[in-house]
Amino acid sequence: RDFVIVGGGIMGAMMALRLAESASGSILLVEKSYPGAGSTGKSGAILRQHYSHKVTIGMARESLYWYCGFEDQYGLDISFNRPGMAFICKETDRENLERNVQLQQSLGVDTTVIDSQALRELEPAGSFADEECAAWEPEAGNVNPVQTVHAVLDCAIRAGADVRIGVRVTGFLRDGDRIQGIELDDGNCVAAGMVIVAAGPWAGKLLEEAGVPLPLQTLRPEQAYFEPPAGAREKRLIYGDLTNGLYWKPELAGWTRVGLLDMNDDAVVDDPDHYDEGVSGEFISKCRERLSRRLPHYCMSPSWGGVAALYTVTPDSHPLIGPVPGLEGIWVVSGFSGHGFKMAPAVGRGVAAAIGNDQAGHFEANFFAPDRFTRKAPIEVSYGYGILG
Ligand SMILES: Cc1cc2nc3c(=O)[nH]c(=O)nc-3n(C[C@H](O)[C@H](O)[C@H](O)COP(=O)(O)OP(=O)(O)OC[C@H]3O[C@@H](n4cnc5c(N)ncnc54)[C@H](O)[C@@H]3O)c2cc1C
Repeated sequence: RDFVIVGGGIMGAMMALRLAESASGSILLVEKSYPGAGSTGKSGAILRQHYSHKVTIGMARESLYWYCGFEDQYGLDISFNRPGMAFICKETDRENLERNVQLQQSLGVDTTVIDSQALRELEPAGSFADEECAAWEPEAGNVNPVQTVHAVLDCAIRAGADVRIGVRVTGFLRDGDRIQGIELDDGNCVAAGMVIVAAGPWAGKLLEEAGVPLPLQTLRPEQAYFEPPAGAREKRLIYGDLTNGLYWKPELAGWTRVGLLDMNDDAVVDDPDHYDEGVSGEFISKCRERLSRRLPHYCMSPSWGGVAALYTVTPDSHPLIGPVPGLEGIWVVSGFSGHGFKMAPAVGRGVAAAIGNDQAGHFEANFFAPDRFTRKAPIEVSYGYGILG
């Protein structure tokens, strides 16, 4: 094979599609469980362009348009939906918010800073303090992550990629520091010109076993689901609420999904194959209380429980994308720190341009280089919450 991709999450699927479409060579994607079994399947899949760097804004924008046009281009439904998103901020974040919005506007993003009066008009059921403001992004939306990863993989297969599901990559074939393929748990080996490790929360361990420890850590964020009370006049928008440290979004089932922004609250997971997927009553109460500060009708809302998932995080909350330091013939694409879904089309295209025949988009390899921490050149983030980028 020219390319072997380890992992059938949204990143692996996108890279398989872009490499196949650009006729870059023969491709095999190997997934140990099922498509979306890692972070992807439980993703909020919120697609926003609110970032603080030119590169990430450009990639989010490129990807949003790609997701938006997916059904027309490929004829498969991914439940693309565009309710718009408001980033509400407290006074201390206002300067950053305004600067970021200006940068986004200069790059063509339809976004504005609105004051509390405009916020009240946008969400009459909401409660906002006079000194609060928000970045309003009407183009923001979301997709169904499970439908999307399956659809993208189907398209990759149609474009010529091979996909093997239910087989685990256990190690690498190597000649000194040159990786030459993969070893599988069914006893087979596959030779490869290039191996791309897109194994999400499992990537760190796999590479550590190959002798390369990278700054990747797995966390366990929780989400709770609430049903809006009958008759609630709430607009079904997506929110990031920096004042209260949470985000919420309408789910297709009619529920509201709530998660917290502070990754410091999330437990560290040592073994992503075995972690507790349930959430506590305490967490659900915390989410209900914080959400009710904004939308008081949720204090009377039943919860449908919640689910814990996995983030793969790096010290600067941005992914590692590029050659694995110290080895040849292998790339890592992991560490998306809870905000990668919206970037995946641009990542797929960027990687396919860097190592295959695709045309470059907004991705900049140097920006995400895995060795940036040893070079003491981490990416600076604007807000107190790294997940916001
Ligand atoms: C709760 C939650 C909410 C989120 N919300 C958003 C959001 O609103 N917007 C956004 O942009 N991002 C969001 N994210 C982040 C986004 O979902 C992730 O960044 C993205 O899904 C990562 O995809 P991935 O392909 O890198 O990893 P994963 O989806 O984890 O895929 C890795 C795959 O590799 C497979 N694998 C692992 N090891 C092996 C092996 N040895 N052999 C074969 N296969 C292997 C796994 O089974 C898995 O399927 C959220 C994440 C979570 C958890």
